[in-house]
Amino acid sequence: MSAEPPDDLAEVNQKLTGATPQEILQWAVERFYPKLTMATAFGAEGCAIIHMLSIIEPKVRIFNLDTGYQFKETLELRDRIAVKYGMEVEMVRPDTTVEQYESIHGGPLYGTHPDRCCHDRKILPLRRAIDGWDAWISAIRGDQTQDRANTPKVGWDKKFNLVKINPLMDWTKKDVWTYIVQNDVPYNPLHDVGYPSIGCWPCTKAVADGDDDRAGRWAGKAKTECGLHSLDSSQL
Ligand code: SF4
Repeated sequence: MSAEPPDDLAEVNQKLTGATPQEILQWAVERFYPKLTMATAFGAEGCAIIHMLSIIEPKVRIFNLDTGYQFKETLELRDRIAVKYGMEVEMVRPDTTVEQYESIHGGPLYGTHPDRCCHDRKILPLRRAIDGWDAWISAIRGDQTQDRANTPKVGWDKKFNLVKINPLMDWTKKDVWTYIVQNDVPYNPLHDVGYPSIGCWPCTKAVADGDDDRAGRWAGKAKTECGLHSLDSSQL
């Protein structure tokens, strides 16, 4: 794992000003492949990037943090992607099954201690999954939250100690869906029934028309991020 941020990140971001997501991914492949990886929860944005990578470099290693609490529609999407692109998304799992975890803690923690649950079932597996890699690709968009709006296209991830590539920083939700429709990209059918942002089923609700896209994530709680993409992990 790289211990220090590359010293040309400001220059790189300058060079990538106005670049398309495909151009950013092409740059990332040329600079970091094969030590380049991507985490996906199979959201619409992630599916669009997978399609781009299928053209640019289909051997980029892509993984999903399989908490054990994902929707069946999400898991099925992995298979559809494999059929369409021949790209196997690796499932990265915590060291306990849901049954073991809930047994240890006397029940699920997502309702009472969601930060602990995300830490144990997402963050720790993520740390293991990206250990030894030089850069990872995320599918965040700049217009999703204020934290994300401040994120550069290529930054140093202080939390996980590697470079983080954010190719969709300049894209809107409409841009993503236009791309998906034009390219017949497989996507999660839950998007069609009121779930703009999809995580684990216990912490994801459908939203009403006009609500913020992430309003259904940890609804009713102060929590808004699982910790993978919070601001302190995304700065230069
Ligand atoms: S999103 Fe919910 S169920 Fe999934 S890891 Fe976090 S707290 Fe647990």
